[in-house]
Amino acid sequence: MHEHSEHDEMLQQRLRDACLKAGIRLTHQRLEVYREVASTTEHPDAESIHRSVRRRIPTISLDTVYRTLWLLQDLGLVKTLGASRERVRFDANVRPHHHFVCLACGRVEDFFDESLDSVRLPYSVGELGTVEQTHIEARGYCHSCSKQAGGLNSGLRSRGSVARREP
Ligand SMILES: [Zn+2]
Ligand SMILES: [Zn+2]
Repeated sequence: MHEHSEHDEMLQQRLRDACLKAGIRLTHQRLEVYREVASTTEHPDAESIHRSVRRRIPTISLDTVYRTLWLLQDLGLVKTLGASRERVRFDANVRPHHHFVCLACGRVEDFFDESLDSVRLPYSVGELGTVEQTHIEARGYCHSCSKQAGGLNSGLRSRGSVARREP
């Protein structure tokens, strides 16, 4: 899985640059945690990142994984989303993008749309603070959950989207 692909080289380079700029060391653990978040589009939570990283670093603790993820967030390499469930999830996709959230299984998928990236917010938002990025969250039911639920069609319509400011 961790063949030296161009993508992997790019990830290493990105982390190396960020660590250098912040004056911290690029450790093996940091690299493995970052690789793990960046290798998936599933927006994993810390526990599933921990499970995967432990296959390669059996001694790594959940606490270390958490600390590393917060560090990566400070470095601007991952974003967090508190989309659906109680657990915070991590996203290595730091390009502007939007999310589809399934209200049944909690899966979060990315989608891209340039016109949404620069959607005009009401003037009143400016009174609340400075907006750096707008993120659209569409909530509904993914195809496999819709299928499982069968007849409950009326409840399975998308509840529309909520624009919110990224943290
Ligand atoms: Zn679902
Ligand atoms: Zn995302």
